[in-house]
Amino acid sequence: MPSTPTRPPLSLVAAAALLLATMLAGSYVDLLSDRLHARQLAISTQLERIVRLNQELGAMLTTAVLDRNTLRSASYPTIQSELERTVTAVQALTSDLTLAADMVALGAELASLRARELEALERMEAREWPQAQAILFGNEYSLARKIYEINSETAIGALNGELAHTSETYAQIRHLSLFARIAAFVLLLWAALVYSRRLREELRKQARLHEEIGAANRRLEDNVRARTAELERANRLLAGLSTTDSLTGLANRRRFDEALEAEWQRAVRTRMPLSLLMLDIDHFKLYNDHLGHLAGDECLRQIGAVLQACVLRSGELSARYGGEEFAVILPAAEPEEAARLAETIRCEVENLGLAHVPEANARVVTASIGVATHRPIPGEPSTRLIQDADRALYESKRAGRNRVVVHAPAERADPADKDADPAPHASASSTPPTASSQ
Ligand code: GH3
Ligand code: MG
Ligand code: MG
Repeated sequence: MPSTPTRPPLSLVAAAALLLATMLAGSYVDLLSDRLHARQLAISTQLERIVRLNQELGAMLTTAVLDRNTLRSASYPTIQSELERTVTAVQALTSDLTLAADMVALGAELASLRARELEALERMEAREWPQAQAILFGNEYSLARKIYEINSETAIGALNGELAHTSETYAQIRHLSLFARIAAFVLLLWAALVYSRRLREELRKQARLHEEIGAANRRLEDNVRARTAELERANRLLAGLSTTDSLTGLANRRRFDEALEAEWQRAVRTRMPLSLLMLDIDHFKLYNDHLGHLAGDECLRQIGAVLQACVLRSGELSARYGGEEFAVILPAAEPEEAARLAETIRCEVENLGLAHVPEANARVVTASIGVATHRPIPGEPSTRLIQDADRALYESKRAGRNRVVVHAPAERADPADKDADPAPHASASSTPPTASSQ
């Protein structure tokens, strides 16, 4: 009985799921890490830019006030607006970091620095150079600038520290994920190994089961074959028994009837002649009465053997018709041929030399034989042939026994006239009885 296919074990599914999850987690962390580094790069670039622009603005004003030339500060607003844009961008990039407040404060410091510079610029534009110089070279401005630079460097350091910390966290997660991945892979291998072993075992079991079923089927087939052969043998035996006469081994009356009907129909179809011999042992009652039925049986057996030996051609059939009467069917035999065979049989019976009783008026056991031949026409019954052979046999008895008489049918004007009852015509006996048998 084929079993249901083995389901993969839970450990195999869990290992595969874990492997998949760790791979996804690893990829996600890689993605986050890449993004972090990109952001880190962007923030430090922007911060450097702020510092550079700031220095540029300071230098631009200082040079202009020393040169007493406002032309140099013409690009001041452009650089300043670029600086403001950069500050806003940095604030946006760092809004979710812990130092966001520092960055806002730095922005405020930068704005106050800018306010002083604008004030100086206004003085310069009004050509009040000493006042402008006093602002730009004054302690207040220098101090604010210094504080801004220090705070700016501190913020950059803090920023780098925070980014480095996050990066380290990501690296740890990545290592953890890699470790989990290796563990999941090993678990997967182990579970697959266990599963494949179980599958192989299952397959082996199924193959064994198939083999056993096959062997059982073969045994069953052998038994059925043997039983069928036995039954066929028994049937053949039964068929033989049911159609064989147990005393003589010749065909019995049933087989004779069937064979005569079949040959009769064949003769109707082929328009060939069909001959029949009817044999009756002479004075057999006396034989039995004097010598006993066992001797009678032996006599019947020996006469049966004579018939078996004389009737050899294929299609011919010798049978025990009943009691001490025998019949021989001769398909396609003309009357002369049938009479020849009847005479041979008669002689062979006589030649058996079975001593008869004195009352029988014959030295040895003899037989009388009646022969009839027909070319049957459609609708004519086969009993006609038996009747004619019987009549010839009766004529043989009447004429003195131990002889062959061939029935001579009367000329028939209309062969379809089935009711015509030709009188028995004893033809000339083929052989007169020998002196010894009379
Ligand atoms: P006929 O020459 O006129 O034929 O005389 P008959 O004595 O042969 O004639 P009848 O038919 O009166 O006798 C037949 C005898 O055959 C009677 C019976 O005892 C004997 N008989 C029939 N069947 C068997 C058998 O199977 N075994 C033995 N031993 N005798 C049988
Ligand atoms: Mg008889
Ligand atoms: Mg008889």
